[in-house]
Amino acid sequence: MWFRRDLRVRDHPALSAAAAGGDVIGLFVLDPALWAQSGPVRREWLRRSLHSLDEQLNGRLWLAVGDPKVVVPQVAVATNATAVHVSADFGAYGKQRDAHVRNSLAASDQELIATGSPYAVDPGTVRTGSGTRYRVYTPFYRSWLAHGYPPPTPVSTPRWVSPSASAKICNVAELSQQQSDVKLPEVGEHAAWQRWAWFAGNRLAAYSEDRNRPDLDGTSNLSAHLRWGEIHPRSLLAELAPYLSNPGSEIGAETFRKEIAWREFYAEVWDANPTSTWHSLDPRFDGELKVDGGESADARFAAWQAGLTGYPFVDAGMRQLRTTGWMHNRVRMITASFLVKSLHLPWQRGAREFMMWLRDGDAASNQQGWQWVAGCGTDAAPFHRIFNPTKQGLTFDPDGDYVRRWIPELRGIAGSAVHQPWLVRGTLAEPPDFTYPNPIIDHSVERQEALARFAVLPPRNG
Ligand SMILES: Cc1cc2nc3c(=O)[nH]c(=O)nc-3n(C[C@H](O)[C@H](O)[C@H](O)COP(=O)(O)OP(=O)(O)OC[C@H]3O[C@@H](n4cnc5c(N)ncnc54)[C@H](O)[C@@H]3O)c2cc1C
Repeated sequence: MWFRRDLRVRDHPALSAAAAGGDVIGLFVLDPALWAQSGPVRREWLRRSLHSLDEQLNGRLWLAVGDPKVVVPQVAVATNATAVHVSADFGAYGKQRDAHVRNSLAASDQELIATGSPYAVDPGTVRTGSGTRYRVYTPFYRSWLAHGYPPPTPVSTPRWVSPSASAKICNVAELSQQQSDVKLPEVGEHAAWQRWAWFAGNRLAAYSEDRNRPDLDGTSNLSAHLRWGEIHPRSLLAELAPYLSNPGSEIGAETFRKEIAWREFYAEVWDANPTSTWHSLDPRFDGELKVDGGESADARFAAWQAGLTGYPFVDAGMRQLRTTGWMHNRVRMITASFLVKSLHLPWQRGAREFMMWLRDGDAASNQQGWQWVAGCGTDAAPFHRIFNPTKQGLTFDPDGDYVRRWIPELRGIAGSAVHQPWLVRGTLAEPPDFTYPNPIIDHSVERQEALARFAVLPPRNG
């Protein structure tokens, strides 16, 4: 069993398939290429998650470091494995890597067997009436729901083989050293289920209203657990069933199911359009939309990164990201919109920054999320819908608690006034150590500028 983005033992079709074939070697290969690209927060999450999985396996997780294209066939031959079992990977890099491993294994009469994937329904399964791939969420959701998702896989009891001395987790230097001092919650399969139980019992019923409020702990916070496969969306969908038929929680549960489906939709769009990792799905945005560059653009980007734009809702989000490796969805939309439509910078710059810091950083959801906000994705927000960061703050953080939590300089300003600190500057209400910057741009002016740049684009083909 070659573990990748499926660091769990429960509801695990590939592990069940491996267990049915006899003794099981549970292998994780630390791929230097992926390790180097992951930011420190995701490296730290992975490090802890592997230790947690090793504990679940009573110290029987096998670790190897190197290019999986070389390492996996080597281990398979050295251990006389009959087959290598995996959960399918739908990313461009993963697909190529797996094709290579499959060929190498075939040379020694060994098979790569993929069962299941990180999704409830594999990308490419749900098609339009004419057999094409979906490009719009709502019809995708309807078909996805009509197609249905399988129930959880029954628990298997693999006969784990202990690792050789050199394959023990303690021999991998990277996994012994803390990678980041960002504050992370408990990591691993057990923690994922605990978080789900807490969320289902305390927050799910009110999820449809509270999910937009970054000042509340109103969302599941399961994204990083899902990212690493510590819990599977199929398990969550099965857990949702009783809540979907209970009048007190049905709206919250249905909204939650729709969010799980957004994750599936973005995986679908990415699988159908692999170049959309860095290229806009609407090609006009990469060549013809005017974006800013040079020193002053770099200075504005640096202010955005550091949470020093002078717009409190934006800055609180960027500081939450740096401090915790996570940002609330509403604030992801506002910070992304601010970068693209108020600072006129390319979405790719922001997407790269998010991928550096997010503990749930996922190429499908992140890149498509950015394209949605920028207005260049398949099912994107219309370009002229430009978020006003102050109004958004006043609506979704009505008492200003979220802003004060992440921006200590503003803690002296009470209530919703914290969203417009420029109004108290020079007044008695101004906190004594008021070092927070004035807005680096005027949002209403830049909004007009963004619309003017968009207006001169040629019409979209197709
Ligand atoms: C610019 C931008 C970048 C994003 N980058 C990522 C990313 O790298 N990784 C990531 O997992 N999500 C990303 N999202 C989606 C969303 O912000 C996070 O999934 C969500 O904030 C995670 O918190 P949660 O688990 O509490 O979500 P909940 O509200 O509890 O939702 C439950 C689950 O549904 C899925 N989900 C919810 N909203 C979305 C969405 N809009 N798109 C896709 N899946 C969704 C997630 O798996 C999430 O864990 C991004 C959104 C935007 C606007």
